[in-house]
Amino acid sequence: MRITRFWPAIAAATAMALAATPNLSAFESSGGDLPDLANTLNKPWQEFQFKGAKNASSRNGAGVNSIVIHTTEGSGVYENTINWFRNSSNNSNSAHFVIARDGRVTQMVDSSRRSWHATYYNRRSIGIEMSGFSFGHSDPNDDKPDTWRYEVGEIPDPHDPTPGDGYRSNLDTLAQIVAFYVDKYNVPLVHPTGEAQWHRNSEGDVVIDSEYNQSGLVAHGQIQPWSRRDPGPEFPWDELISRTNAILVPEPATASLFLGAGLLFLRRRRA
Ligand SMILES: [Zn+2]
Repeated sequence: MRITRFWPAIAAATAMALAATPNLSAFESSGGDLPDLANTLNKPWQEFQFKGAKNASSRNGAGVNSIVIHTTEGSGVYENTINWFRNSSNNSNSAHFVIARDGRVTQMVDSSRRSWHATYYNRRSIGIEMSGFSFGHSDPNDDKPDTWRYEVGEIPDPHDPTPGDGYRSNLDTLAQIVAFYVDKYNVPLVHPTGEAQWHRNSEGDVVIDSEYNQSGLVAHGQIQPWSRRDPGPEFPWDELISRTNAILVPEPATASLFLGAGLLFLRRRRA
């Protein structure tokens, strides 16, 4: 997500979807999937809340088969992203979840509804914003670092004052949420390769030759490679998949006590 720049195609989608924008109080009372998520996984997150986003719409019958990973980029900090998705002047974007560097998480749109994070992928996906930055920022003068290069104990991102231990905590939370939706919607636990194909015409406008069309755990940059790179080439996809697998199919010796009840629940549901 980039909240500091305006992307024309989002404006077109916004115009079409504005009529379907629900009022905030309906979201607030729905509570999203969060009670289920919390009860199932029983993770001792420091903060675990639902705050309705302004922008959301119907999936128009589409099934969820993918999870799109973003980094917050321009907004950087967890609270700022949440506030932007609730801002009355925001007519362009939202996400299902925002995850802080220290593992706190806020759900903003129920998974049964469409959040506005990746244009033509919105109807089929869950959108998750990770607090942090992707390497390869489009602005060459921008020195924002790559969140995913940090290891435990390294100096935290200077643009994000959230205390934490590199990316470990927010990747742990992400794996918990991914496990929940892999189980709920049978999203394939794979990171498919490739990206949308596009070129610029003689006027310099972007022309999409073929949209990306894969299920699984997908980068925003694969869907809109002409304007987005998040979460960036350093994002640890293999680590995310192995952590998610460990939650879904725990080794008996490593299943911890505090997760035990939730894991049994997941295994029963998958059986
Ligand atoms: Zn994005």
